[in-house]
Amino acid sequence: MIQCNDIILAYSNDTEVRQRATSGGIGSSLVNRLFAQGRINSAISFEYDKKLLGYRPRIVASAEDYTVSGSIYHEINLYAYIREHIGEIKSPFLCFALPCQVNPIKKMLEKQGIESYIIELTCSSQQSFEATEYLLKRVGVSKENVSSIRYRGDGWPGGICITLKDGSCVRVPNNNSIWMQIFQSHLFVMPRCFYCQPVRETMSDIKLADPWEIDIIGKETQGRSLCHVKSGRMAEILNGMVDEEFITYEKRQMADFLYSQRGVIARKTYNLHHLRFTKWIKSVLGNKWYRKSVLSSTFLFRVHCFLYTYGYRCLHKLENLREH
Ligand SMILES: Cc1cc2nc3c(=O)[nH]c(=O)nc-3n(C[C@H](O)[C@H](O)[C@H](O)COP(=O)(O)OP(=O)(O)OC[C@H]3O[C@@H](n4cnc5c(N)ncnc54)[C@H](O)[C@@H]3O)c2cc1C
Ligand code: SF4
Repeated sequence: MIQCNDIILAYSNDTEVRQRATSGGIGSSLVNRLFAQGRINSAISFEYDKKLLGYRPRIVASAEDYTVSGSIYHEINLYAYIREHIGEIKSPFLCFALPCQVNPIKKMLEKQGIESYIIELTCSSQQSFEATEYLLKRVGVSKENVSSIRYRGDGWPGGICITLKDGSCVRVPNNNSIWMQIFQSHLFVMPRCFYCQPVRETMSDIKLADPWEIDIIGKETQGRSLCHVKSGRMAEILNGMVDEEFITYEKRQMADFLYSQRGVIARKTYNLHHLRFTKWIKSVLGNKWYRKSVLSSTFLFRVHCFLYTYGYRCLHKLENLREH
């Protein structure tokens, strides 16, 4: 029996949803189930826009209109979108949100008398559009030749699929790839992410994550979602989904959740403990000339990634030594 505050590893029994989703498809299964039960009358969805070269949010009123888009790693100003389209929302409303967006969105909806279910997505950082543009440059694809981009899906951990105008797909894996280097370079991270709280109290009903270092890449290929069940009503919904065989789960501990995210938690904690250093790093990474030179050649980009990654590792080790 799932209870509030439980940590579970779960997946959708709908193989198509599980295959298209980011990890185990629990987020998308919840959208489908809550619409089917009449518990929600609208939800957020994301549609790819060719002109934008990215995703736009959309309010949908049925499960058929919802797209299993997988995680989207470019910036989306979801708060502003919801504020501008609040009149289109039919209560109760289901919304996915990153940790920094959960409480502001929940409060805005409450003010308008809209009941909401918030599904929180664990978040290491959000990237600017420039990250995707740089990826295209590095894999030798012109923007004009792109028909659509998916960042995740196609099994676990999946990866990027850049669909070209002729229907072919350029694949970039999620791990050990240029996309991972782009993420780790921190050259494209949104400014607010440098000061992100590693652990936040939020008003979400459930928090979802990839089970990094719990499931082994290569061994687990279909995907499971690591979930922190945060409300009693969400525990009840999930128990119903288990009884009706929509999802499968096993219980885990909070320590597993924290362990799987420990790298990101350590980095965020370090940043907040060393605000002057963080401000300096942010200004170096944002410097026009530094960026121009590092992004002008593959060699310099690699040097930057090496220095940045190993520099941070050394600093963390020093910090640990000092603490002990
Ligand atoms: C920017 C970002 C960073 C992340 N960082 C981490 C991390 O460091 N560690 C970790 O374990 N997990 C991270 N995740 C969460 C993880 O990628 C999955 O979202 C989670 O495993 C849920 O998978 P699922 O298969 O259950 O959900 P799915 O069934 O794939 O449903 C997820 C739904 O969320 C919505 N969505 C996608 N992107 C966004 C977005 N940017 N903003 C709002 N809604 C969105 C879409 O509607 C999508 O269909 C991150 C996600 C994002 C978007
Ligand atoms: S890293 Fe933090 S501040 Fe940045 S998008 Fe994610 S939750 Fe928000």
